[in-house]
Amino acid sequence: MNLDLNITPLKQWLPSFERPLLIAGPCSAENEQQMLHTAADIVSHFPNAIFRAGIWKPRTRPNTFEGIGDIGLEWMQKVKTETGLVTATEVATAEHVEKCLKAGIDILWIGARTTVNPFSVQDIADVLKGVDIPVFVKNPIYPDVQLWAGALERINNAGITKIAAIHRGFHSYDNGPFRNSPKWELAIDLKSTCPDLPIICDPSHIGGSPELIPYIAQKAMDMDMDGLMIETHMDPANALSDAKQQVTPMQLKKIIQDLQIRCASIESLELKSKLDELRSLIRKLDDDLLELLAKRMAVSEQIGNYKRENNITILQLNHWKALFERSSETAKLLGLPHDFIKGLYQLIHDESIRRQTDIMNNK
Ligand code: PEP
Ligand code: MN
Repeated sequence: MNLDLNITPLKQWLPSFERPLLIAGPCSAENEQQMLHTAADIVSHFPNAIFRAGIWKPRTRPNTFEGIGDIGLEWMQKVKTETGLVTATEVATAEHVEKCLKAGIDILWIGARTTVNPFSVQDIADVLKGVDIPVFVKNPIYPDVQLWAGALERINNAGITKIAAIHRGFHSYDNGPFRNSPKWELAIDLKSTCPDLPIICDPSHIGGSPELIPYIAQKAMDMDMDGLMIETHMDPANALSDAKQQVTPMQLKKIIQDLQIRCASIESLELKSKLDELRSLIRKLDDDLLELLAKRMAVSEQIGNYKRENNITILQLNHWKALFERSSETAKLLGLPHDFIKGLYQLIHDESIRRQTDIMNNK
């Protein structure tokens, strides 16, 4: 994947920026008192936070709370004048963007259900032409990094350079303990393609419950992400949306206080030389691994030729099962987790089959 974005660094347009950039506030704006009260508590702990609240809520099912609508923008304005907090909300249509610009909302974000639709993203990008406002893009619901990159590109092509990606997890049939599977590798993929792109993690939508937030937030920091978006509500149990995952401002304070913020750059020379030594060992082992893999594939091709000459099917299910069982026993003895080995073997097996198929087809 290649992704070439023109990005204004966070620090340049948000002088108070310090890792982690914190975006806090309720899932939804519900009433004026809830907004002002939550914002006052947030600013008392985090004067540099960005205040979030959803005004229009994309809900999976109708007849649930679909957001308070335009009146919420007036409450956002009040939050801004009374607390001085920077404000952010979700936009899903060109009309939302126009209303937010008129109301002086400081930052816009595109939600996960909108990022999946290039038509909607393009409509939003079109009204943003010539406007100078930061726009954050949440990952699409589906684990498709190209859609995420595409939405960022469309916004960037409209001339918006104050951009960031928000990692809020992905829908998967096997979410484990999470509401949305984090699939960290996709966020890492995006970051490695575009190292200057700030990434903000949203542990609330990944975790779906307050208990998981500290773990996810810490992991995000250890992945060198730039910020955290955490849904914060005065009375989470009675919230009109996402009641199960919001935290109180006091809980938020504890979560942030308990974070260990590690640094990505290595300053001490002694530390660096020890790390260099270990890294060169890893490089050598990686070379060995790759050479072994190449050898293994060559043997697999020999087997492919033999199967072709003797009219034998490529997939020999019983053989594959026995081979995997034997290797997973060995892996267990070596202390390698079963799931890791299973995933690795799946990849190796897929590549062997691909090569043998080419041989069968005489390529
Ligand atoms: C939200 O931030 O409240 C929201 C709707 O998030 P997402 O788009 O990640 O589902
Ligand atoms: Mn929410």
